[in-house]
Parts: sequence; C-alpha cells; structure tokens
Amino acid sequence: MKTWSLFAGKFFGVEFRIHTSFLFLLLFVLLSESSRGGVWSFVRGAALTMLVLVSVMVHEWGHVWVARRAGQAMRGSMLLPTGGIAVSDPHAVDDGIRNIAREARISLAGPLVSAVLAGCGFVVALVVAPLRHLWTFPLVSIDDLVRSFFWINAGLCLLNLLPAFPLDVGRIFRAWRAQKLELRQATRQAVNLGNLFAALFMMAGLASNWFMLIGLVIFMAGQLEERTVMFQSVVEAVHMEDIMLTHFSTLSPADTLEDALSMAVHCLQDDFPVVSGSDLVGVITRQTIVECLRREGNGYVQGAMNKAFEIASRSESLGSVFRKLTSRGLTLIPVVDEEGLVGIVTLQNLMHSMGLLAESRRLRRQIEEQQ
Ligand SMILES: [Zn+2]
Repeated sequence: MKTWSLFAGKFFGVEFRIHTSFLFLLLFVLLSESSRGGVWSFVRGAALTMLVLVSVMVHEWGHVWVARRAGQAMRGSMLLPTGGIAVSDPHAVDDGIRNIAREARISLAGPLVSAVLAGCGFVVALVVAPLRHLWTFPLVSIDDLVRSFFWINAGLCLLNLLPAFPLDVGRIFRAWRAQKLELRQATRQAVNLGNLFAALFMMAGLASNWFMLIGLVIFMAGQLEERTVMFQSVVEAVHMEDIMLTHFSTLSPADTLEDALSMAVHCLQDDFPVVSGSDLVGVITRQTIVECLRREGNGYVQGAMNKAFEIASRSESLGSVFRKLTSRGLTLIPVVDEEGLVGIVTLQNLMHSMGLLAESRRLRRQIEEQQ
C-alpha cells in the first residue's frame, strides 16, 4: 500500500497518504489550462488540486468517524481523487466487511459529508454570484474556485453513490456478495463491476476529459484494493509451522558475548533465542552483540539480551506475527509449543521461507495433478 503514495500526515491517530494519481490530476488540470500558461494559472491549478484533496480528506473523515463509533478502528487512509481507500486491521476488515449494516453506515457517511460540503459551497456561490453562474461550463475550472468547490463535492457525492467498487456504494455491493462468498471472490466480483463502470467512464471521456480521469482512477483503485485483499488472504492462510526455522542455534545466558559473536560468525543466523535449560529467557541480535562488545567489552549474554520479547504459537498466522514484528520493530519471534521452543521466525528468513513454501506447494500440486 505504501508504494505509489506519499505520507501526508497523521491526524487524530489516522495516517493519511496521498496516492500518485493526484499528480495526474494536477498535470491534467495544468494541461487543460496550458494555452494560458504563466505562473498565475499554475498557482490556481495547484489550488484546484488542493481543493479536491481537501474535499476527499474531509469525505474520508466521515468514514473514519463513523467507523470509530461503530467500533472498527481505521489505521489510515489512502487518498485518491475519487475518494479514499481505508487501511484497517486485516481481522477487522474481514469481520467488518461481512457486517452489511455496519459497512453501509460507514460507506454512506462519506457521500453524506460531501453533500454537506457541496451545500456549503452552494450557499457561498449564491452569495458571490447569481444562481445561473453555477451552471456555467466548464463546471470545474481554475477561474472560479467557489463554483469548482461546489461541483467537486457534488461530484464526489454522486460518484460514490455508484456501485463501482472501490467507491462507497461499491463497498456495500461487496459486503452483500460477501454474505455468500469468500472475501476474495466477493472482492473479485465487485472489482469486475467497478471495472465495467471504469470502462464506461473512459468511453464518456470522449465528451469530457474529467470522465476519462475518473475512469482511470476507479480502475487503478480497484486493482489496488484487490491486491491488498489477495495479500491479506495469503498472509492469513500461512501458519508459523509452515515457515518457521526448526534448525537453528541458541545461546545460553551464561555464554560470553565473544562466544556469541564467534557463533554468529559460523552460522547464517542474525538473531538468536537465549535458552536456559528448557526455558526461553530472551532474544539477542548480532547487532546488539557487536554493539555491546564495542561499548563495554566482553560480558555475558544475560546482561545484553532483550527480555521483553514476543512469542508466537505454531498455528498463529503469518499476518498476526508480521504485525507483531513490525509494530514493535522486532527481528525475531520464537515459536513456542507447550512452553517449549520449537522454532524461530526472523525477518531475515521470512521472505526466503515464503518463497520456498510457495515453490513446495506448487510442486506438490503438480505431482498430484500427474497422479
Ligand atoms: Zn468514500
């Protein structure tokens, strides 16, 4: 999700990222006004893009606020010119999406906020100029930012009422399909319908370039959402026992740091569990060993190891462990079964093991097919 987007800021605990398609929007606005040129039209073009960004951000706030009240915390939102894509906890996503009433409330909050913003724009536009001015073409242009504000928000409201996933009503459509289907399949169907709308918009692009842009963004956003759901379903389907390392070296708290370093030299591991008897008592990284040796000279692993570590069970999903690793900046998680250490998972070996697991599953399938 982080690729193709720019961190915009964290407001009230929600991380906002701006998708690259906003750059398209800016280019598009500037190109359509290029005949005039000059610094002034550049500034107004940037201002128009900002208007869209702010409108989308406030629209997203509608979703975030209602989601929070409904008990579904959102971690962040990716802003696109047609709306936002919420980033929630994967578990919350799976459960939340099936709850159609809740999904509908959260989804409709966005268009409602846009309608209110459009209403405000309407009032201001009436104060500034007579009513017929509001209907002057082009509806959105750098010459009249007040009129543009009204139409941007009216557009965001109406657009999101289409069942074109990942737009808002498209999300309700997916929730409805997810009542009977797996989340992946429901998302696939919703994306297909969304793509149909995207194609229609692109065709309508013959009439107005804005439609072309909207079609493109819906198409891109659909791909993005589908990939996220695919990734999540893969990470939730892989368990620790599938990928953990079962041949690994351990250290004892009574080992010296020099012993530990020499062990690190002779094996491929960067991170070590520290075991006393049959008890797991800590974890230590090669980096910590080297730093402690450099700072304080030789000492014992006992004094340098990290005693506040996380553990995982055999059946725990990769998604859950990945969240533990990244949220606390850890590089190793010991896998424990009935209080005994049975394996380790490290960031270093994770990608490697995932690749091998995929390969071994593929080979097994091939063999089954041949039989
Ligand atoms: Zn929305």
